Amino acid sequence: MSLTRRAFGAGICGCVLAALARRGFAQARPVEPGRTYIAPGYRPPADSDEKGLWSLLDRVERERKTSRFLVRDVELNAYVREIVCRLAKDHCPDIRGYILRTAQFNASMAPNGMMEVWTGLLLRCNDEAQLAAILGHELGHYLRQHTLERWRDARNKSDFGAFLGLGLAVAGLGAVGQLADLALVASMFAFSRDQEREADEIGLDLITQAGYTPVAAAEVWEQFIAEYQAGTAERSRQLLFATHPEPEERLVALREAAAKRDGARGERGRSRYLAKLAGVRARLIADELALRQYGRTEIVFDRLLAQSPDDGQLWHAKGEVYRLRAGDGDAARALKAYETALGTGNAPPETWRSIMLVELGAGARDRAQAAFDAYLKQKPGAPDADALRMLLSQ
Ligand SMILES: [Zn+2]
Repeated sequence: MSLTRRAFGAGICGCVLAALARRGFAQARPVEPGRTYIAPGYRPPADSDEKGLWSLLDRVERERKTSRFLVRDVELNAYVREIVCRLAKDHCPDIRGYILRTAQFNASMAPNGMMEVWTGLLLRCNDEAQLAAILGHELGHYLRQHTLERWRDARNKSDFGAFLGLGLAVAGLGAVGQLADLALVASMFAFSRDQEREADEIGLDLITQAGYTPVAAAEVWEQFIAEYQAGTAERSRQLLFATHPEPEERLVALREAAAKRDGARGERGRSRYLAKLAGVRARLIADELALRQYGRTEIVFDRLLAQSPDDGQLWHAKGEVYRLRAGDGDAARALKAYETALGTGNAPPETWRSIMLVELGAGARDRAQAAFDAYLKQKPGAPDADALRMLLSQ
């Protein structure tokens, strides 16, 4: 989909890709009339500039492998790979996925087969079909070598300033989430509307062929628009509309295309998705809260809760939005959410710790003590027990 990162990936690809990839296309094979995909197993010719680009991307990829942002959860990685292979079929061996711990909605795909999935995306998807829709879109860019096309456009316009900026951006790459650089690159190297439309179409074809619910693509896009329009910092909104100038138009097109494919049928994979995410979700929620973009985060949690009204972890997370925001009336809102969490029967023990902190803030020492006791009862070896005891005794 490409808020910032995918466009950044496009930038990486564009800048070094010299007159090169002609030969690459010679090896491609037609998949359907009028549309030629990159061939499975494709490698750029040894003496080509494209090869140079791949070397650069391989270097970036090696950094990814040791990145402190890399999520190494074995089961989750295997799961994402399984989805990618289900969509990409013959291309599966050419694709390597990296889950990166960054609380933003994004995925990207580089021409050498390096795919990135950001954890903010995983937190936001309702089910496997929605994640597959985003991955399918990225695969669409990859299969059609849009990055190369985009680069050719830029080259023909002799936009050397842009290339220079990209070179610097790539050189400085290594950590994820440098939004300032990403904004710059995204605005220069966004895919064209035609490319986005094509990636949408291919993505929809891939998920439909794989047996997923076609309408998931429109849904996830709609969620994205709602979140960013309603709650996001101005800069993020600018990023979104720099790379996707006509979001509503795309949404309509995706809805219509899904309807033509009998959009609501197919697999959702919801319980499987939640089960695979369970091992990391508490951390993803904490990362989301750490952004301190409470308006946006509240929208995300409310939407997820509409799907899972009995999810104690999400109710606790919603309470945390209010506790951390600490505005007028937020203490009461937080306590109400925690109470609902406890009522589900599957709230995390930390719900009690949160109640303790809110009660302490309101000067209700007895209730704070009771909440602390309940916390320790549920989590006897809590590593923060001593610190909380100190708080209580002050
Ligand atoms: Zn895209």
